[in-house]
Amino acid sequence: MKCALVTGGSRGIGRAVCVKLASQGYHILINYKENLEAAQETLSLVKAEGSDGTLLRFDVSNLQEIESTLGVWLEENKENPIEVLVNNAGIRQDTLLFQMSNEQWSGVLDASLNGFFYVTRMVITGMLLKRYGRIINMVSLSGLKGTAGQVNYSAAKAGVIGATKALAQEVAKRNVTVNAIAPGFITTDMTEGLPVKELSAMVPMQRFGTPEEVAEAVGFFASKGASYITGEILNINGGLYS
Ligand code: NAP
Repeated sequence: MKCALVTGGSRGIGRAVCVKLASQGYHILINYKENLEAAQETLSLVKAEGSDGTLLRFDVSNLQEIESTLGVWLEENKENPIEVLVNNAGIRQDTLLFQMSNEQWSGVLDASLNGFFYVTRMVITGMLLKRYGRIINMVSLSGLKGTAGQVNYSAAKAGVIGATKALAQEVAKRNVTVNAIAPGFITTDMTEGLPVKELSAMVPMQRFGTPEEVAEAVGFFASKGASYITGEILNINGGLYS
């Protein structure tokens, strides 16, 4: 059984990624933070692809929770390697920097940047031993160009972009690739409440993207066909920025 772990797999982009990787034959480890019902819905969609999955509830920013769930799963499933890791879990808490609370700053960095670190460190040893792995990090246009009102989110995603490039060089010899995907505006719960009409007008394609359009690229990076691509950041933003 070859496995793919998707953090934040219960909703949005993560859910579409779970479905895509299931269609590529992976057993999906569906991580979520609190939304069990949504995670179960993702599992049904994974099963509809003819694959199967396991729900793993943990907060990616909480090392103890990671150790007691993912750590235990790894210990009990030594014969089932995680070949693909998608660090997708993330939150945004937008406000101008001068009025940003410590919690808004650290909460966003904890989820994206520390989450990337804790989960990847735990999973990568198995990949290095097997001499095969695909790590795909969900970053953002904000991490590349910076977005006003999102200094915390832009910093977190820019941090993951730097980490992607550095880690890619560390593990390339072992046939483990590390890439990132930088979406623009994608229709999910995260973008709910945004002024879609005005923002779409700024996008050359004149619309938001879909989670499935992002998941296609994850499927490619996860595939054997992407074997010589590492340290790359792929924009998926309808032409908004590159
Ligand atoms: P979403 O619809 O809000 O879903 C977020 C997912 O992350 C949920 O599955 C949620 O789990 C999980 N999650 C949040 N915090 C977590 C934590 N601490 N530990 C574990 N899981 C956690 O978001 P999305 O739009 O799909 O975004 C997915 C990723 O793409 C994020 O990293 C986001 O920054 C990035 N992104 C999104 C857009 C966009 O326009 N949507 C653009 C650029 C980048 P629960 O269901 O349990 O809450």
